[in-house]
Amino acid sequence: MIPAQFDYLAPSTVEEALAALAQHGDEAKILAGGQSLLPVLRMRLNAPEMVIDLGKITSLRGVRDDGDAIVVGAMTQHSVVGSDPLVAEHAALVSKAVEHLADVQIRHRGTFGGALAHADPAGDLGAPALALGAQFVIQGPGGTRTVPAEEFFVDLFETAIGEDEILTEVRLPKHTGWGAHYEKFVRVAHQWPIVAVAAAVRVDGGSIAEARVGLTNMGNTPVRAHAVEQALVGQPATPDGVRDAAARAAEGTNPPSDLNGDADYRRHLATVLTRRAVLTAAGATG
Ligand SMILES: Cc1cc2nc3c(=O)[nH]c(=O)nc-3n(C[C@H](O)[C@H](O)[C@H](O)COP(=O)(O)OP(=O)(O)OC[C@H]3O[C@@H](n4cnc5c(N)ncnc54)[C@H](O)[C@@H]3O)c2cc1C
Repeated sequence: MIPAQFDYLAPSTVEEALAALAQHGDEAKILAGGQSLLPVLRMRLNAPEMVIDLGKITSLRGVRDDGDAIVVGAMTQHSVVGSDPLVAEHAALVSKAVEHLADVQIRHRGTFGGALAHADPAGDLGAPALALGAQFVIQGPGGTRTVPAEEFFVDLFETAIGEDEILTEVRLPKHTGWGAHYEKFVRVAHQWPIVAVAAAVRVDGGSIAEARVGLTNMGNTPVRAHAVEQALVGQPATPDGVRDAAARAAEGTNPPSDLNGDADYRRHLATVLTRRAVLTAAGATG
């Protein structure tokens, strides 16, 4: 289908974009890479009067080192994030997740901030961002505020970004030297996961000293597997050491049932994928 008619604006600064948002209110929609928004417009699930394209705002693009965090501009394409050496060294979990996100064309157009702002519970970036303790920098008419990942994902397709605000960058606390793996289960290549697990671990002397685990598509928002993280600490980085902790992956989750699998199947998947993700992140096999 062809989208309903809309006006189009391509500002060159965040301030201009915010002014346009303020002027048009809930009749306006932000456009990033368009990989989720354009299908929505084409299906006429949304018909904004004004589309504000962030594509010309160069300050929103790129990756930089900011001391204890790697900062990713909201308009940085997935392909750039996935090949960035700073992200690979200090936030490897994100690089691993981007490798499995959609196909080359979508990774070329889609953006880091767009995917996180879209907040699809099956999106591949939410669980790594949550597991690493990402901070979301949001700019609005009243200035800039920083929101922790636990408060950013509010509900299905809903985040802490207000209607008059723009996500400008995401700060990823450095996890240098940690092993990382994103284990994604799909029926069809290049698709959203039925369930996926993001795991980062710090191994010391053959045992797991610290662990951070996030789950994709196990609820309306990305879920942090705190029970698994706690149970992993002090365990040997071996299949026997990890098995019992991974069995707790579904605790506190509320997975959906759909054509790809029911909730019980997803709970089972979460435990299997968590074991694989943690073992691979720890450099072990099993
Ligand atoms: C066929 C297909 C397969 C895909 N497979 C996967 C997959 O396997 N895994 C996965 O994670 N994703 C997948 N995607 C989605 C992809 O990751 C998109 O890039 C992403 O969801 C949206 O990013 P975007 O930059 O295109 O944002 P857009 O589509 O432009 O915007 C998405 C939403 O976020 C809002 N928004 C965007 N940027 C901002 C901002 N800076 N501030 C405030 N609001 C903002 C928009 O208003 C809109 O509501 C797939 C998409 C397609 C079409």
